[in-house]
Amino acid sequence: KAQIKALRKQFGKQEVLKNIDLTIQAGEVICIIGPSGSGKTTFLRCLNVLEQPDEGEYQLGEVQYDFARIGRKQAQEIARQTAMVFQSYELFEHLTVLENIMEGLRVVQRLSKQEAKKIATENLAKVGLSDKADAYPIQLSGGQQQRIGIARAMALSPEILLFDEPTSALDPELVDEVLAVMRQLAHEGQTMVIVTHEMQFAQDVADRVVFMADGVVVESGSPETMFQTPQEERTQHFLAQLR
Ligand code: ATP
Repeated sequence: KAQIKALRKQFGKQEVLKNIDLTIQAGEVICIIGPSGSGKTTFLRCLNVLEQPDEGEYQLGEVQYDFARIGRKQAQEIARQTAMVFQSYELFEHLTVLENIMEGLRVVQRLSKQEAKKIATENLAKVGLSDKADAYPIQLSGGQQQRIGIARAMALSPEILLFDEPTSALDPELVDEVLAVMRQLAHEGQTMVIVTHEMQFAQDVADRVVFMADGVVVESGSPETMFQTPQEERTQHFLAQLR
């Protein structure tokens, strides 16, 4: 379980996140939706301190952090419990698929080569790409590369798996194979926070949908409520535009 309270983040004079509260229950799948520039990606990056928030409290498991006072050690602790799947995969081009998945296990978790290889192999199998272990990223389709991105994040056994628009760089015909892997993870009870433009996916898979606009959480609720009877005008307007 994680709890974020009163998170604020500015870039220069621009207030990108104004006062965000969010509780993430263990096993919960949260989809964050909202217009471009509303701060969704920045919020996600704050959750694993790729961006350091200016203010706020962060409870992760049993540990309480003050966002304004996060040092190197705390940042490492947080990063270890949260893993990110990026929009543009961010695989290392000079490493094989298996080596890509092993890298974090070796560097972050300091596992032996043998242990890292075992865990990487298991996670590669989970995304259905065991036969690509020795391939290089460039030899794979975008959908396959993103499945490797997911395997790499999962291999770290994070408390929370974060997804930043994981399918938005993909050709339409490759989206489903990635969403299928994510559905499977949700089914297995993995805690996930997903920034997405895939409304059907959010409707099917999310336990809770969070609508962000202008650096605030405007409204959140079950997918049924959010997509069928949203209460706030800004949410209604955003969803109407998509139809
Ligand atoms: P999209 O759906 O288009 O990805 P978003 O909701 O994820 O949008 P963010 O990417 O979080 O929005 O951006 C929110 C605002 O913060 C934007 O105005 C963006 O220009 C600004 N921003 C994001 N990252 C930085 C940065 N590193 N430096 C300065 N400004 C930034």
